[in-house]
Amino acid sequence: MDNLWSDDDARAAVAHYGPRGIGEDLALRVYTTRLLGGEPLLVQHGGGNTSVKTELTDLTGTPVEAMCVKGSGWDMALIEPPGLPAMRLESVRPLLALDALSDEDMVNAQRASLLDSTSPNPSVEALLHAFLPHKFVDHTHAAAVLAVTDQPDGEEICAEVFGDRAALVPYIMPGFALAKKAQEVSAANPDAEGLILLKHGIFSFGETAREAYERMIGLVALAEERLKEGNKPVFVPAKLPESVAPASAVAPILRGCAAIPLAPSDGRYTRWIVAHRTSPAILDYVNGKDLMRYGQVGVVTPDHSIRTKGLPLIVPPPESGLIDAFKTAAQEAFEGFAKSYAAYFDRHNARQEMPRKRLDTAPRVVLVPGMGLFALGKSAKDAAVVADLAETTISVITDAEAIGRFETIDEADLFEIEYWSLEQAKLGKAAEKPLARHIVLVTGGAGAIGQATGRAFAAEGAEVVLADLNGDAAKEAASGFGGLGIACDVTDRDSVQEAFDDVCKGLGGVDIVVSNAGAAWQGRIGTVSDAILRESFELNFFAHQTVAQCAVRVMEAQDTGGVLLFNASKQAVNPGRDFGPYGLPKAATMLLAKQYALDYGGQGIRSNAVNADRIRSGLLTDNMIKERAKARGLSEDDYMGGNLLGREVTADDVAQAFVSLSLARKTTGATLTVDGGNIAAALR
Ligand code: ZN
Repeated sequence: MDNLWSDDDARAAVAHYGPRGIGEDLALRVYTTRLLGGEPLLVQHGGGNTSVKTELTDLTGTPVEAMCVKGSGWDMALIEPPGLPAMRLESVRPLLALDALSDEDMVNAQRASLLDSTSPNPSVEALLHAFLPHKFVDHTHAAAVLAVTDQPDGEEICAEVFGDRAALVPYIMPGFALAKKAQEVSAANPDAEGLILLKHGIFSFGETAREAYERMIGLVALAEERLKEGNKPVFVPAKLPESVAPASAVAPILRGCAAIPLAPSDGRYTRWIVAHRTSPAILDYVNGKDLMRYGQVGVVTPDHSIRTKGLPLIVPPPESGLIDAFKTAAQEAFEGFAKSYAAYFDRHNARQEMPRKRLDTAPRVVLVPGMGLFALGKSAKDAAVVADLAETTISVITDAEAIGRFETIDEADLFEIEYWSLEQAKLGKAAEKPLARHIVLVTGGAGAIGQATGRAFAAEGAEVVLADLNGDAAKEAASGFGGLGIACDVTDRDSVQEAFDDVCKGLGGVDIVVSNAGAAWQGRIGTVSDAILRESFELNFFAHQTVAQCAVRVMEAQDTGGVLLFNASKQAVNPGRDFGPYGLPKAATMLLAKQYALDYGGQGIRSNAVNADRIRSGLLTDNMIKERAKARGLSEDDYMGGNLLGREVTADDVAQAFVSLSLARKTTGATLTVDGGNIAAALR
């Protein structure tokens, strides 16, 4: 573990925050909190906290003995002074005299002690910081420390590794009781540099930010030294199939198995975004003969459980060519997981004074021998966090097994954490947007309609991938709303298949496909060349068919329905003179949408089309608008608004039509006009 302290950086932090009214103590607290937070082997995703005791002044100018402690919701790597709310020490220190304090009373006392009532909630470990006498207190869940303490004889190993430099605190779940115990252990060991919280993590402290930080690094280095002694080959490989199916085929099956039906009659499910991770270290772990033992022990530190659940699901390896057999086996494994999770809940809930509300029964981490790990989250960001924690878990357990045997807190303690109201509060209760957890692929994604459609779906909470012939333009456009962009030539089946494979590998599958790519060819139908007509059919009909075929294959693997949306022009219904080469394939595409509605309705896959007209885009350029308006003796505005409503139709209007069709759960086989009213193109 490298010591990253730099006098220059420390001075720079003080100089940066000073003019903003932030004292040296807090400025240095921010500096070393960031140092700790930036190292994933110490801290990941909200799993650690820091504090400093300092003097502040209240509104009257009276000095206040305060403690600035990490607030919940802040990431240590990016922390700023408002992420370390100040508590009045005189109002929380006396709590130490109490024998017990409920979680609710503790949170209330912490909030009531804040100097600024708008601050975030202080960390659930704030009282532990407050009860310690030291000025700077640092807390991490360092991977190396976890690997030495997560052992049947973790206490003896830690005593030997840390000696007098760190005192040992038995496992107690975070909260008032742990804060009291840590204070007691610290008081009995006044010369210790820190505390090892068995099966949880490590605290270090000091009179200066530098001392507390360097003690953390020094203590973690002791654990790392001890791990170097573990050099036995850890995992004996299990016998695996000669070749396994690709992740792009496996992810949609897992995603479908994990989906929880809400109201199957209208096709609603709690869906998941799936992140796949693999590496030599992950493969060694998931391919081990004893995976069912070491992989089913539990979490490496308690607070992971709120994101990863206590145990991962292990499914059999997917032999290539036998994907149907894998799907059946995976379904059984997910059902088994749900049953055993429900039984775990019932077992421990029965002991609670206040009955808890059971969380969903889907796993968050799925281990697949031969392939690696799959992490499930409510968004791509969330799935990545779960995947990070799962990777850390694998690394800690690998190290723990190399020096002994991985062991963690027992099931009852795990339940206390997983169903602890204060931990649940960390997950946020904001209502989800209507298309959250949905994966949307838009072809022709870099064009005006494609971009607007991507933006509109992202605004409804969806994970959006823009696919375009110009991959860079798609990436650029998608970055504007947090989506992904990929290159795809929709007239090339391999390219389309590759795009779907990428989306499945990256996000887990696909729920909504907007087949939008198109281009206009002109020509008088009696004389137009076959080449032009066929070229137009390639893009304006066959490409839609290729995209839809690839889409339904993924949707069938997921078994959770799906939505196909086609961009069919007004030309499909009301042809324009000399636009035959464009209108003919579009008319076929409108029928294609209906054919998919017919053939796939039984599987809950809906298929609809949008009939737009006169949208400023690559198809209808500013020059074309100028010419056409001139030819009709109209102003450009009058030409663009030449419809029954007299209103120009925009790419955003078309995008909204796609979104509304994707939400219309009882509509399939429909064509929706978005043209401001064009009676000759009105469908019955
Ligand atoms: Zn902790």
